[in-house]
Amino acid sequence: MSKPVRVRFAPSPTGPLHIGGVRTALFNYLFAKKHNGTFILRIEDTDQNRFVEGAETYIEESLKWCGIVVDEGVNTNEKFGPYRQSERQAIYKKYADRLLASGHAYYAFDTAEDLDAIRKEHEAEGKTFIYNWHNREKGRLVNSLVLSAEETQAKLDAGDDYVIRFLSPENETLHLVDSIRGYMTIDTNILDDKVLFKSDGLPTYHLANIVDDHLMEISHVIRGEEWLPSLALHYQLYDAFGWEKPEFAHLPLILKPTGKGKLSKRDGDKLGFPVFPLAYKDHQTGAISRGYREDGYFPEAVVNFLAFLGWNPGTEQEIFSMDELIAAFDLKRVNKAGARFDPDKTKWFNHHYMQEQFNDDLAVTFKQIQPELAEIDVNYIELVVALIKERATFVTDFWPLSHFFFQTPTDLDEKAVKKAWKDDSPEIMTQVVSVIDSVNDYTVENLQTELKGWITKNNIGFGKVMMPLRLALVGALQGPDVFDIMYLIGKDETKRRIENLVNTLG
Ligand code: GLU
Repeated sequence: MSKPVRVRFAPSPTGPLHIGGVRTALFNYLFAKKHNGTFILRIEDTDQNRFVEGAETYIEESLKWCGIVVDEGVNTNEKFGPYRQSERQAIYKKYADRLLASGHAYYAFDTAEDLDAIRKEHEAEGKTFIYNWHNREKGRLVNSLVLSAEETQAKLDAGDDYVIRFLSPENETLHLVDSIRGYMTIDTNILDDKVLFKSDGLPTYHLANIVDDHLMEISHVIRGEEWLPSLALHYQLYDAFGWEKPEFAHLPLILKPTGKGKLSKRDGDKLGFPVFPLAYKDHQTGAISRGYREDGYFPEAVVNFLAFLGWNPGTEQEIFSMDELIAAFDLKRVNKAGARFDPDKTKWFNHHYMQEQFNDDLAVTFKQIQPELAEIDVNYIELVVALIKERATFVTDFWPLSHFFFQTPTDLDEKAVKKAWKDDSPEIMTQVVSVIDSVNDYTVENLQTELKGWITKNNIGFGKVMMPLRLALVGALQGPDVFDIMYLIGKDETKRRIENLVNTLG
């Protein structure tokens, strides 16, 4: 029997979660649910310098908004907890010590200034400095490979700052496997001896990540392509500990809408779309970044478009609910090539999901954001929403599409007047008022029957009635069905608007 599927999303709380991070979380979630597995949220907060207050809450809220449910995490089913790395500090030293004892790691005492000087000397000679087999034992660097055991101990006893580095082997070829990219070979000679642990008592990302993935029994590591260069080290760490490796899958980069490179916040600012799921206020600068939620996107639309960033179902189907995504998701159908971000496609998805929203919910939101609706009955707003939402992508589109249901139009569209208002319009419209007046049981059907019957009987062109009528009701030649408008605004208001127009245009 294969191992149970356990995946983790392991963000560092260094600021708002980028939409690419949400995509990583989503793919992990889809994979877990597809295989009846567990989706874990682990907070990788060992880098105290980059810690940002509130970022963890932001991550949790973002996942929740998207409908990504955490099975295990802080305060949730803490079987393998704690799930914040800062609370697991005591665990890591033991593992660093194990690598020291087995000869897979060593102490290094070089100061930042010394390393900087060496790096500059290399650069002056057109070379790149890599801390590894090239130079770690040449005497210039201060580490436990060069120092005697007593000297090393003396430094440790004296409380000198140190780091523990991984001893990357010389002249070996590593064979790596990635579920999306296939097989890769790496020559260990090009790898540097990465820092695993520091004398401040904290592990680096690499050590903490591997130890936690092992202890939390992670079966599949699904993460962004930017972590692919770390894979060689991670393989070696698993081997050094003698642990079974999880399977790895590195998701393709998310590319700018046009041109080269990764999608950045700047692209969003420039082209007018959010790169964060929720709006975010930077506590230091006070700057606010827009979010999909606040911009009026439905979470279903965001999830649907994120799923297509690097994955496709292999069919023509584009609309997928979360459950459908779970059923269809397969890592084999994730591309290697970068996924181009298309902000218009997101809008297209939102327009689609707009049609699937309940009208009563939309009416409540519309009322909340539109001050003119404060006193209007939400049931009436709901009827209006039903008529206009097919033309809307966002709830903010509603008001321009529907203001005439709530207010008598004050402006007349000049072009529309030219097109719709003819010499005989005042006469025709005056008669239309009488026809409308004669409809006792004021329903859409009765209005239609009466007015259309009258038009046919009098042999008047349909447009000669309907265009000025629409102009009177809307102030322009746009909007939903004229009979629906007449019905909703009521008989008196309908008559009043037509009479007003006759008086204004004469
Ligand atoms: N903490 C890393 C990040 O911020 C996690 C990388 C991984 O998933 O291994 O993305």
